[in-house]
Amino acid sequence: MMQEQPHDTIEELLGVYALDAVDQHERRLVENHLSRCSLCRNEVDEHRDVAALLAGEVVEPQPYVWDGIISKINATEPRAVAPVVSLESKRKTPFFSSTRWVTGVAAAVVIGLSTGLITQSQRIGDLTFLITEQERQITALAATLEADPLEQAVAAALADPAAQIANLTAEGSNQTMLIVMLPDGTGYVYQSNLEALPTDATYQLWAVVDDKVISAGVLGNQPVLVPFHIDPNGLQGFVITQEVTGGVPQSEADPVVGWIKA
Ligand SMILES: [Zn+2]
Repeated sequence: MMQEQPHDTIEELLGVYALDAVDQHERRLVENHLSRCSLCRNEVDEHRDVAALLAGEVVEPQPYVWDGIISKINATEPRAVAPVVSLESKRKTPFFSSTRWVTGVAAAVVIGLSTGLITQSQRIGDLTFLITEQERQITALAATLEADPLEQAVAAALADPAAQIANLTAEGSNQTMLIVMLPDGTGYVYQSNLEALPTDATYQLWAVVDDKVISAGVLGNQPVLVPFHIDPNGLQGFVITQEVTGGVPQSEADPVVGWIKA
């Protein structure tokens, strides 16, 4: 049993069908539908008439059509604006086979055809969209599987029992920053609720080592995950300051948050 096709689906195919440009499967679908739908049968007939015209069988309009036009024009009083050309003589010229008339029909056919073509290219467009969407999903999946190397490094550091966690805070403030640091001095800012700074400002990380304050890294204006490396020997604490973009070699700013090793 052939699947019932909705009228709309078949209608899109009628122009192509009338031109014998459908494949066997489409032909069966269309003919199955035509056997039950007089609307579509009429449309195919019209398409075929137009196709026949385009193929060179230019059918002259019925004489009465032209006669009707002439009688209407004759009924109007000619105005003395332009010389009135004898319509009788004009009629004897091969007006109906003139390119102007045929061009009109050809244009009608081209419009009919391109409607079919648009439908086809729309289908190809839909298909392309589907493929693009699938590619996007695959890319997203792959990205999830091979997570950001930095995230993986932080996760590994946090899982390392030898790692040290520093919770940077400030009195009278709810801003905090968490740092995980491995024994070799590799560290990561991995959590922060510091307020975002303007783009011309940055947070800067300082390590207090042997009573000296050493820059450990410029963290950007909204630090989330930031790696750094310091010499872990003699580490006494961490301090965060707010500086101009790019950071400074020595800070005179007040600490935003800090941590002192117990
Ligand atoms: Zn139909």
